[in-house]
Amino acid sequence: MTATLYIDGQWVPAAAGETRTIICPADGSEVGAVSEASAADTEAAIAAARKAFDAGEWANTPAAERGEFLFKVASEIERRKEEFARAEALDTGKRLVEAEIDMDDIIGCFKHFAKLADADPGRVIDAGDPTVRSRVTYEPVGVCGMITPWNYPLLQAAWKLAPALGAGNSLVLKPAELTPHTSILIMDVFDSLGLPAGVANVVTGAGATAGAPLSSHPDVDLVSFTGGLLTGRKIAAAASETVKKVALELGGKNPNVVFADADFDAAVDNALNAGFVDSGQVCSAGVRLIVEESIKEKFVAELVRRAENITMGGPFDENAETGPLISAAHRDKVTAYVKHGIEEGCVLRTGGHWGGEEHKDGYFYAPTVLDNVQRGMHVVTEEAFGPVITVETFTTEEEAIATGNDTIYGLAGAVWTSDAGTAHRVSAGLRHGTIWINDFHPYLPQAEWGGFKQSGVGRELGHAGFDEYREAKHIYENTAPAVTGWFRMPEQG
Ligand code: NAD
Repeated sequence: MTATLYIDGQWVPAAAGETRTIICPADGSEVGAVSEASAADTEAAIAAARKAFDAGEWANTPAAERGEFLFKVASEIERRKEEFARAEALDTGKRLVEAEIDMDDIIGCFKHFAKLADADPGRVIDAGDPTVRSRVTYEPVGVCGMITPWNYPLLQAAWKLAPALGAGNSLVLKPAELTPHTSILIMDVFDSLGLPAGVANVVTGAGATAGAPLSSHPDVDLVSFTGGLLTGRKIAAAASETVKKVALELGGKNPNVVFADADFDAAVDNALNAGFVDSGQVCSAGVRLIVEESIKEKFVAELVRRAENITMGGPFDENAETGPLISAAHRDKVTAYVKHGIEEGCVLRTGGHWGGEEHKDGYFYAPTVLDNVQRGMHVVTEEAFGPVITVETFTTEEEAIATGNDTIYGLAGAVWTSDAGTAHRVSAGLRHGTIWINDFHPYLPQAEWGGFKQSGVGRELGHAGFDEYREAKHIYENTAPAVTGWFRMPEQG
């Protein structure tokens, strides 16, 4: 019997007995079967999380002990790293080495929030009156619903799980239906380390059924979502009925601005990384190359030459440099996006096709460069979430900034230049949550991550990513209570 739902400290099958087969997108092979939760299963998980939160065992565990628990989670993932990385690689089709890097990042994330757990218990306020004692304390928000995507399944979950547990919340995690295995494994880690029953729960299943109650149910106090803009809008709308706290990490259409004075080889190499790492299935992928007109031809020629040399392959292919797209449906979406671009007048410089005969069972899409792109075209307004770099040009700094900001998104961007003044003016001008100067992709768990504009609401990581999971409470104590005299006594007339 397939029993992959972890509810109230027990492994249980879906109430309706449904299962789902998980497919490795690199070759279409079966990875395994998991329980397919319905709304009823998610409601059971929410009830377990509510009961656990209201019982208070975890919320009242000293913050330092909660921090210790997170350190132990990090150690367990380290110990079981190969098992976790393999599971992630098989579900996503990404190379094992990339999944191992993801696991290192996850370990770092748990350690970061372990350190924060008891670092900031609150503060005393000087009320300016010796008879008043005023302090601000922090409490967990309550029951947190977490909905995560398929591109970095456990990493995106870890950014939510670690701060939520560190702050004393209970939670229900609903991973993407295509990539559930590492979310199941981490519940096993929590269980083995003695987390009280009901504090952490996982339901595996589709968004519209298993996920939806997490944004609409009155017993959920906060919903944290990472995924696409359209889903994010639905979640925010559903959450507004019960005025939940909402955290959204959505998509991006991220500019990679290259000035003529940049280190040419480094800028080309990083432009490839920006757009083609994980086949572009990265929310912060630098898929909008915005290059200074004077070096455009030389830059794009070299980008194309390098792109054509990229080797695609499955998780255990040691020669591979990038993997497949997540599903046949997603490959169809990327295919249609490129076709639309060519119809709009873009010039296909390379790519624009699926993987060759040796990849016929997987969902590969060749690294693609679309040239002659104009602001406002569909290819620069819509997220493809695939290995497609579009090329735009500029002649002035102002134009570079305006082009980089010409999007409803605001997640991340980069500027390449050897001039410090240009670097600082452009990084100040770009309205995105992360800006790299002469780099692309690195992030630090100590630094906030999140989006301006329609890339999201709130922040993950850093300190703000911990505060998302805490309520601030002001306690004002009058140590010398007395009649105020504000309202007249009846006897005063
Ligand atoms: P998606 O929005 O299709 O799905 C994300 C999750 O939402 C899945 O678990 C899905 O089952 C669930 N879901 C779908 N409909 C739902 C509903 N009505 N109610 C509740 N849950 C629902 O996104 P995806 O295709 O899995 O992921 C790709 C997107 O995620 C891209 O747009 C990408 O930019 C974004 N993303 C953003 C970040 C970030 O940090 N900002 C990180 C990773 C991915």
